[in-house]
Amino acid sequence: QVCRADFMHAFENDIKPAFGISKEEFDSYISNGIIIWGQSVTDVLEEGELRIRQTIKSEMTPLVSILIEGPPNSGKTALAAHIALLSKFPYLKFCTAQTMLGFSELAKCQQLKKIFEDAHKSTLSCVVVDELETLLEYAPVGPRYSNNVLQTLKLLFKRAPPKGRKLFIIATTAYRDILDQLGLLASFSKVIHIANMSSGQHILHVLNEMEHCFNNDEMRYLEKKLHDKKVCIGIKALLDLIEVARQAEDKSRVGRFISQLEEVAGMI
Ligand code: ATP
Ligand code: MG
Repeated sequence: QVCRADFMHAFENDIKPAFGISKEEFDSYISNGIIIWGQSVTDVLEEGELRIRQTIKSEMTPLVSILIEGPPNSGKTALAAHIALLSKFPYLKFCTAQTMLGFSELAKCQQLKKIFEDAHKSTLSCVVVDELETLLEYAPVGPRYSNNVLQTLKLLFKRAPPKGRKLFIIATTAYRDILDQLGLLASFSKVIHIANMSSGQHILHVLNEMEHCFNNDEMRYLEKKLHDKKVCIGIKALLDLIEVARQAEDKSRVGRFISQLEEVAGMI
């Protein structure tokens, strides 16, 4: 006979129908879509798709893990969430220090352990671990980090799922060198670099993809100004500049957008 206690047990211990619920959470990390502004983005997405196929098909590697590393604002979180959604795996989970705010080290380790144990219950699972350095409580002053979280992550990244189950891990960081020093890089099947945008063409590509941003005259002016320029700016920072320019309605907004690019993206 099935009673209430069984239901409560199932609720606590069995996996929830994760996809429907967490898809919205994943979408929230890709609030501005994914714009293919250059080869760097294509490369990351191709590697992601390759690794998804490897996870599904390979008998030899039930555990596949990738690390997306790149400068702040380069779009790491959005790319990780996007690749996870591409997998369409039935168990999807996003781990971030944001949802563990105020947790003790021990509580964090337990939460991580639970997430991975749940993942091991599904035939195909994908776990995103965003901003490893924040999860590790890394601070350059000192320098300090949580050794408990580090050891927990190392073990979890290494533990293959039970027979017949597959796990795909996607982690992100802006501190590749630190993870290397902590011995975490070796845990990954592949480390993928996502670059900042480096040319005016990259920026024009984004502007062309966005509607109702600049009018035709403004776009012609921007094309002339930007097409042969060198820049260095992350997609998140660029979208921010575009948003500010969009709010302004006066004629000087193109000029201001350009001078912002000079200031933020080092454009000359
Ligand atoms: P941080 O260094 O603060 O963690 P981040 O590198 O994780 O930043 P995201 O939070 O992923 O950056 O922000 C990227 C934003 O840019 C998202 O809103 C996303 O929808 C949008 N975006 C558009 N095109 C791309 C792309 N090709 N790659 C990544 N993000 C993109
Ligand atoms: Mg991020």
